[in-house]
Amino acid sequence: MKSLLLFGATGDLARRMLAPSLFGLDCDGLLPDDLRIVGAARSHLEQDAYRSLIEGALREFVEPDRLRPQCVAKFLDRVRYVPLDVTQPDQFLALRDALLRGEDGEKPADGLRIFLSTAPSLFGPTIAGLQSAGLTGDETRLALEKPLGHDLESSRAINDAVASVFPESRTFRIDHYLGKETVQNLLALRFGNALFEPLWNAQGIDHVQITVAEAVGVEGRLGFYDETGALRDMVQNHMLQLLALTAMEPPAHFDATSVRDEKVKVLRSLRPINHETAMTHTVIGQYGPGAVSGAPVKGYADELGRSSATETFVAIKAHVDNWRWRGIPFYLRTGKRLPTRSTEIFIQLKAVPHSIFAGPGAGLLPNKLIIRLQPEEAITLRVMLKEPGLDRAGMRLREAPLDISIPNAFADFRRRIAYERLLLDLLDGDSTLFVRRDEVEAQWAWIDAIRAGWAANGMTPRPYAAGTWGPSAAIGLTERDGVTWHD
Ligand code: NAP
Repeated sequence: MKSLLLFGATGDLARRMLAPSLFGLDCDGLLPDDLRIVGAARSHLEQDAYRSLIEGALREFVEPDRLRPQCVAKFLDRVRYVPLDVTQPDQFLALRDALLRGEDGEKPADGLRIFLSTAPSLFGPTIAGLQSAGLTGDETRLALEKPLGHDLESSRAINDAVASVFPESRTFRIDHYLGKETVQNLLALRFGNALFEPLWNAQGIDHVQITVAEAVGVEGRLGFYDETGALRDMVQNHMLQLLALTAMEPPAHFDATSVRDEKVKVLRSLRPINHETAMTHTVIGQYGPGAVSGAPVKGYADELGRSSATETFVAIKAHVDNWRWRGIPFYLRTGKRLPTRSTEIFIQLKAVPHSIFAGPGAGLLPNKLIIRLQPEEAITLRVMLKEPGLDRAGMRLREAPLDISIPNAFADFRRRIAYERLLLDLLDGDSTLFVRRDEVEAQWAWIDAIRAGWAANGMTPRPYAAGTWGPSAAIGLTERDGVTWHD
């Protein structure tokens, strides 16, 4: 009998993502028959009450046509619950008993998989409790949700606590962006086609833009967000992972060591932004009142009920100092209460070296490759084509898209939640799409230097109206280089 032990099992992530993902896998017959899903959290719930909670989550977050009664019944049959306060070491014995005995006298779990979906401050006590209860044997794997600390030092402390019990090979750090199809498609696009790689360097590419724009505000996470800010919430993890996948060298193989070796080289090649360059290479903002999609919304400080120096927007001009990317800017931008929800990697290629299409109407523009992750998954290559007509004043060109909408191109495939992929990989022991310790720490080192640069320069967020693309200085950041943000 195998067990997936889920800490934080009554929480938002468990209800919204983890339970629906596990259900989706189960419904497609992808979970091992003998897998038991054991939820653990503080709430005192009977087994039936917990199963009702999970059933409610499935009804809320799974498409109704997927909720076939026999699938739901089969899934709920796998689910168990153990009430447990992880700060109380003695309570782990009850967990151990529940895992070892099971309800029907099965033998001890021979392949325990553990998923920590709790605040990171609970990781240390949880791991210590698991160890003292003998639940960290050689076969056990541990998955950890972000945030993995709030700076390099705290991240090291978490990583040390984990490493004292679980070797790196059995540690699975989640960045759910890596579970997204389009993120993996970036690898397929780059390394499965001869078309792009010859141009994928400083000779072929003019610059890269990575945008993660949210139309929503901080919603229910005010306390957490005010301690964190956009840089640590979005750039430190998701955006640097997107940058690393965009910029990395071809890995020797598509496996955990090869892919992560290449990513960490990129992260270590990021040019530090420090007290000398923080003012010129970063812009921070905080939204004030405004309107999003025509509806009036409050400013961040109004939502918080006090003024705050936390950034809800950040734009960065980054460089990867290596042979491939010498001199090529990577512009990163993320924020809340922007005009629209959009996540994309925008790659502008160099212009052709010489235009034969002389004349004012020629309209020759450089090619652009746009990899969109949200709201819809799509890959677009913008190419120059001839405008139809008789060209009495010379040939006129116009930009037109070669468009691949992933849902349309693969309409007969079900769209998966990123966590489905990651949970299945955890069960299978494949850590290719999980973040290695050296990556996380390289990410934090770069982020910490930026924050120190802000502090040294007394930088505080500039106001922007909700529903706009951040402070005007963010436009200046790229315009100085003759580059326009792709909105
Ligand atoms: P949440 O809704 O606040 O849930 C927290 C969970 O932790 C609950 O199940 C809670 O149990 C449990 N818990 C709290 N203290 C405990 C203790 N002393 N012993 C045992 N269990 C305890 O949080 P969440 O949104 O699910 O997020 C969980 C973690 O994932 C956080 O670190 C968050 O930053 C991260 N994360 C969340 C999301 C998301 O979309 N929600 C996305 C990415 C990362 P009781 O409710 O029973 O007390």
